[in-house]
Amino acid sequence: MPAFICTTCGTQYAPTEKPPPACRICEDERQYVATAGQSWITLDMLARRNMNAIRELEPNLISITTFPHFGIGQRAQLLRTPHGNILWDCIALIDRATVEMINAMGGLDGIAISHPHYYTTMIEWSEAFGGVPIHLHH
Ligand SMILES: [Zn+2]
Repeated sequence: MPAFICTTCGTQYAPTEKPPPACRICEDERQYVATAGQSWITLDMLARRNMNAIRELEPNLISITTFPHFGIGQRAQLLRTPHGNILWDCIALIDRATVEMINAMGGLDGIAISHPHYYTTMIEWSEAFGGVPIHLHH
């Protein structure tokens, strides 16, 4: 069963036969439902039409962004430390190239999420790196 991702905000939901009736994040009064209505995508489809790019913000701080723009244009930041690497916030697209790139930079030891708009596909990210812990801050 596919785990649908809201195209407006990038939040992934638990696997279901059919897309969820609505996105709880977009229905919140602080967000909005797209004027064209609710739409969904799967991670496989997203990985076929988008890609992630990295940029070094400063030594050992790497920004990861999806192109073309997806969701609300979220970016993740990989903080590399001698004690392990932390992903600060998540983006919806996680593909093999991204996983291999992060593994080449020392892998991932934990994920910290600052805000519900960065929940995106955090479970997929955690599982891709052996089930690393996720910390939610909000
Ligand atoms: Zn949404």
